Amino acid sequence: MSIEKEVIAICNMPKCKREFKNFIYDEEKSKLNDETLYKCQNCGALRPYDNLEIMKDIALALIKRGNRVFLVKRKFQPFENYWAFPGGGKEPNEHLKETAIRETKEETNLDIEIIKKLGNFIGKGDNGKKANLNIFFCKTDSIRYNVNKTECLGGKWYDINYALKNLQIIPQLKKYLTK
Ligand SMILES: [Zn+2]
Repeated sequence: MSIEKEVIAICNMPKCKREFKNFIYDEEKSKLNDETLYKCQNCGALRPYDNLEIMKDIALALIKRGNRVFLVKRKFQPFENYWAFPGGGKEPNEHLKETAIRETKEETNLDIEIIKKLGNFIGKGDNGKKANLNIFFCKTDSIRYNVNKTECLGGKWYDINYALKNLQIIPQLKKYLTK
């Protein structure tokens, strides 16, 4: 089994009120108990990995060239037909930055470089379950793109002001366009 060092999962302890908290793999306790254990960073509770309700991590790439941004039109729920940043779900043992790069390549064929993480928020993932969405500010030297129609309805470069005025963009992403 692949071990993630950190996961975000529900903590059942009264102090944590069944909310998503940061859990870290506890190597020492895991060896002692011969079981894969994670420790809640808020209350200290130990939980077996198999019992954790883990929140899916998603990486999104905000790709800018001057006053333009690359947007993709979503093909699937949630937010079907809305415009968004390229991206998708993290694979085990992949760094979130790698997820952003891989998913952008898969969806648009653009090669990107990560500049920095802009932030994260809790939203819905493709399965409708809660997901942790991480936004990365990126740049690219590629001009040519090729949108993968099995993953997106469309995609192209847009003037940021035009996009904000005229496109139906996922509301939680709008504020990042002006950063
Ligand atoms: Zn807790």
